[in-house]
Amino acid sequence: MGPPGSGKGTQATKVGEKLGIPKISTGDILREAATRKTELGMMAASYMDEGNLVPDEVMLSLAEERLDETDCSGGFILDGFPRTLAQGRGLERILEKRAKAVDIVVLLDVEDETVFERLTRRRVCPRCSALYNLGSDPPDQEGLCDRCGVPLVLRADDEEATVKTRLSVYRADTLPLIEYYESKGNLERVDGNKSIDQVFAAIMRHIDEADAVKRRGLHED
Ligand code: AMP
Repeated sequence: MGPPGSGKGTQATKVGEKLGIPKISTGDILREAATRKTELGMMAASYMDEGNLVPDEVMLSLAEERLDETDCSGGFILDGFPRTLAQGRGLERILEKRAKAVDIVVLLDVEDETVFERLTRRRVCPRCSALYNLGSDPPDQEGLCDRCGVPLVLRADDEEATVKTRLSVYRADTLPLIEYYESKGNLERVDGNKSIDQVFAAIMRHIDEADAVKRRGLHED
C-alpha cells in the first residue's frame, strides 16, 4: 500500500520476481482492459481518467476472478488492491473461502512533494507496463522501453490536476484501510523516500520476518 507514486508498482514487480509469485496490479488490469476497449475497460476508464476509484463491487469480482487463476496457487503479491475498507473486508472473505489469508501488508511512506515530482516525471510502457522515471530511473535509450523498444507515454492520470485528486482520494478512502490493518497488527511501514534498492531490501526483511513467524506458528500447531 501507499499513496500514488510511492513505488508500489516498482517494488511489487521486484518482490514478485524475487519470490517467483505473480504480481497482481489492479491498475494494470484496468488499464489493459481500457486499451482493449472491453466493457470493463470503458467503464473503468471513466473513473481512472478523473483520478477516482472504480466501484468496490467491480474491483472485488475482478480480484476474485484473478486470484482463482492457477498461477496464484502458491501465493501472490497485490499492488493497488485493496484500496478501501470495503475492499479489504471483501478480500478477507474471498481468501477465507479458499483457506488463505493476508500474510503481510507493506505501506510505503512517502512525502506529498516526492509523490508529485515522481508522478509527473513518470513514464510507462504502453505494451508491458514497465515504469520509468525521467530523473531517477530513465530508460537506456531516451523515450523507449528497455524491454519492448516502444515509445514511453505519460499516463493520463499522472497529469497534475488528476494527481491532486488521486492524493485526496487516497486520504479519504485508503487511510481508513491502513488504520484497519494497523489495528490488526499486520502492517509494516517502510520509508519509501529511499532508493529503489534500499526500499526493496527493507520490504524483503519484513517479508522474511513474517515468513519466519508464520513457519514457527505452523510448527507449533
Ligand atoms: P494505480 O495504477 O494502482 O495507481 O491505479 C490507477 C487507477 O486505477 C486508480 O486511480 C483507480 O482509478 C483504478 N484502480 C486501481 N486499483 C483500484 C482499486 N483497488 N479500487 C478502485 N480503483 C482502482
